Amino acid sequence: MENSPYTTKTLNLYRELREKGFDNVGFVIQAYMRRSLDDLKELAPYKPNVRLCKGIYVEAESIAYRDKEEVRSNYKRLLEFVFENGYYPGIATHDEPLIQFAEDYIKRNQIDKSKYEFQMLLGVRENRRDELLRAGHNLRIYVPFGEDWYGYSTRRLKENPEVAGHIFKAIFGIS
Ligand SMILES: Cc1cc2nc3c(=O)[nH]c(=O)nc-3n(C[C@H](O)[C@H](O)[C@H](O)COP(=O)(O)OP(=O)(O)OC[C@H]3O[C@@H](n4cnc5c(N)ncnc54)[C@H](O)[C@@H]3O)c2cc1C
Repeated sequence: MENSPYTTKTLNLYRELREKGFDNVGFVIQAYMRRSLDDLKELAPYKPNVRLCKGIYVEAESIAYRDKEEVRSNYKRLLEFVFENGYYPGIATHDEPLIQFAEDYIKRNQIDKSKYEFQMLLGVRENRRDELLRAGHNLRIYVPFGEDWYGYSTRRLKENPEVAGHIFKAIFGIS
């Protein structure tokens, strides 16, 4: 999912594909967007495969939560909604409180590992990734791939320079 001018277009594309009978598609929902719960509710008939992330772009406060705790709370609310309504979530986060929230929720509700997966970026929090695998969860690694990988990566860096700090720390094993 790109930034807000593309949210509706992307979700419409998903809807169109599902209507045409394509089942092996999913979409991303960003927890910082105030509209996200409504978007999820609207797509309920498809029982979608949805990647849940915090969101990487810098959006206006009128449409997005800016406070870290608010983004976390909304992430938790969205994850609960997705589980309660039988969607298939990709829990795409490296944030420890959110990973722990998801693990607790899964354990408490005895959710089978075929009903969800964790997702992480290649090279980020690899020890934690291995712990999740040892605990019996499925986990998918995200790798930007294709001819336009450089344009894609630099665009995201420009949108959110904080990512550069994360990458620096990850390379030198600081985080
Ligand atoms: C599989 C996957 C797909 C994604 N797809 C999208 C998308 O389609 N649209 C979108 O807007 N965003 C996407 N994102 C990015 C996401 O929205 C967040 O910006 C990003 O994951 C950081 O948020 P966090 O939940 O990991 O928490 P944070 O609090 O930001 O990070 C927690 C910790 O993880 C580490 N970390 C996080 N990100 C990085 C990094 N890039 N490099 C090194 N260390 C890092 C740091 O140690 C940080 O302290 C995706 C993320 C993942 C994992």
